[in-house]
Amino acid sequence: MNKIAGQRLAVTSDVAGTTRDRQYIDTSWNGLDFTLVDTAGLSLVNKDELEHSLNKQIDIALQEADIVVLVVDGRLNRLTVEQSTLQKFRKISKPVVLAVNKLESLATREEKLVDFQSLGIKPMFPVSSINGRGIGDLLDYIVETLSKAKAPVERQPENEDKIAVSIIGKPNVGKSSIFNAIMKEERVVVSPVAGTTRTAIDSDITIDGQEYVFIDTAGLKKKEYRQEQPDIFSGFQTFKSIRRSDVCFLVIDSVEEITKQDQRVAQEIFDQEKGCIILANKVDIYKGDKEKLRDYISLHFPFLWLSPLFFVSGKTGDGLDEAINAIKPIYERRHKVIPEEILKEFLAKKMKINPPKLLRDQKTPKVFALKQVDTNPPMFQLLVNHPAAISTQFRKFVENSIVKDLDFWGTPITLKLKGKNKT
Ligand code: GDP
Repeated sequence: MNKIAGQRLAVTSDVAGTTRDRQYIDTSWNGLDFTLVDTAGLSLVNKDELEHSLNKQIDIALQEADIVVLVVDGRLNRLTVEQSTLQKFRKISKPVVLAVNKLESLATREEKLVDFQSLGIKPMFPVSSINGRGIGDLLDYIVETLSKAKAPVERQPENEDKIAVSIIGKPNVGKSSIFNAIMKEERVVVSPVAGTTRTAIDSDITIDGQEYVFIDTAGLKKKEYRQEQPDIFSGFQTFKSIRRSDVCFLVIDSVEEITKQDQRVAQEIFDQEKGCIILANKVDIYKGDKEKLRDYISLHFPFLWLSPLFFVSGKTGDGLDEAINAIKPIYERRHKVIPEEILKEFLAKKMKINPPKLLRDQKTPKVFALKQVDTNPPMFQLLVNHPAAISTQFRKFVENSIVKDLDFWGTPITLKLKGKNKT
């Protein structure tokens, strides 16, 4: 898993699967983008009390996947793979691949492969997650199979102007309460047609003439069901909900300390370059100084400095109108295109105030132009003589100035450096 993603994932294979930072990652191979889902180890021989819920997560992952890779430990033998697991894999009507891991130094390698082959899961790939051997072949096969299958179903907005919003946060911060409070608002018109996603039910609503789809995250409305799900499931749902959103409501609890889990969720929104509005919930029972709370929050989410913050209450509905009103402007900023002349003027001004400094052992930095190359999320390109000659400080300065001066509040933007003579 770690090898495939091409970057180290914080995966420790403890059984509970709760200390893991990430179970899924967007990656690509030979030009095809796909998401890897790691199901916390199949717990093939583990009989502890968590097995039941782990199996449930696996079922969910199997439902969601387009292709499934069963990884077995080649040092064990075919009999350690439980019948129930095999049945599960034989039943699913999607491509299944067997990856036999950890065979690198075994004298009995060939014998083991024959043994695992008799499991009847085809094709089979011997792999080594330590030295990466065989992973390329496995990925080639996955990519080939996926590209033959129909393109993965992503949210295709029927209406370009419908804004997708998800309410994101760790458990108990008040996401469901906020969702319900929004749905109860008088000016909300709830569409009778339910959404079409597989595991979540989206809510189409219209507020003041603007259509929104509120994406259900980890069974927001099905509490009993959700409570049975351990972290890994809600983690994956959170990730998917963020991915389908234009703007996220990041909910935190005003009366609790901000934890790593809050930061992790926030980081996910930022990493996926989505618009973000911070909701400090439960303000009805918060007795402290709001400005202090604001400082406390910005200290813990420094990368969200560009996001607006609202004090709200899912219980009383306070502050929610203002938060909802902030969604559309962020959506519009994500789609806006800045005219070239404005960018030219902007860059000239910035170069005057704070030109890039000469870095040691580098060429004299030269900046030629600033271009906008994409929207949603907004992306800019700084044309320079030599990217290595441009300090990070200058790049950050231009990036932050784009947000402030050209009004991209609430959405991450990207600024790339491009050397003049390179494509
Ligand atoms: P979720 O897990 O993030 O969906 O959180 P819930 O909406 O289920 O809320 C968790 C707990 O916090 C419940 O007991 C709610 O009644 C309570 N709660 C949620 N929002 C508020 C709020 O604004 N004020 C107060 N006082 N309690 C709230």
